[in-house]
Amino acid sequence: MSFVIPQPAPASVAVVGQEARFPVHRIYCVGRNYEDHAKEMGHTGREAPFFFMKPADAVLAAAPGATVDMPYPTLTANLHHEVELVVAIGKGGSHIRAADAHQHIYGYAVGLDMTRRDLQNDMKKQGRPWCIGKGFEHSAPIGPITPAAQAPGAESAAIALQVNGADRQRSTVSKLIWNIAETIEQLSAAWTLQPGDLIYTGTPEGVGAVVRGDVLHGTVEGLAPLTVRIV
Ligand code: MN
Repeated sequence: MSFVIPQPAPASVAVVGQEARFPVHRIYCVGRNYEDHAKEMGHTGREAPFFFMKPADAVLAAAPGATVDMPYPTLTANLHHEVELVVAIGKGGSHIRAADAHQHIYGYAVGLDMTRRDLQNDMKKQGRPWCIGKGFEHSAPIGPITPAAQAPGAESAAIALQVNGADRQRSTVSKLIWNIAETIEQLSAAWTLQPGDLIYTGTPEGVGAVVRGDVLHGTVEGLAPLTVRIV
């Protein structure tokens, strides 16, 4: 097949212990999936999960053991970090039952749902889409993916983010309001999941702003960490 303009390189993510990479199809994100984060954003109670997307090329993939640079984005004065467990889908499907969900998971990674909070809040107030707050370039930093068989405890692991060595976010993935299997069930009822999809599963409390020069270190126990420098 030939193309009339140069074809963009596919977005991809490193895989722990392998040369081959994980190609990215779509990036789905879950909103307000930890109670204490929902509260800090002014909401209470368990609501049905809701989703938004980032473009696949928003991925900012770190090489194993390396720090990746994230350019400070345009139009914002309030860039927030949200550390999240990311689920990488290896086998697609629609209307996947929670009981079958784990057959569709390739692996797990540490991700950051970087957010232009000022723009997101403006859009919320006006009832407009979140794209400009959430779906911008480099807004989805991600560490190397660990295959599921090598990360049996990822869905109940400690999750944390440090900025310049100081704790900002610290929780456990077991506090997810909608767990990974339930999230896959709900998400796959709305969209047909494809191999290559990434699901950013939500952030715990403690989100906050970062500035140029800050170094963010995200961890989920048992997975390769993610280190990002804001430049
Ligand atoms: Mn998020």
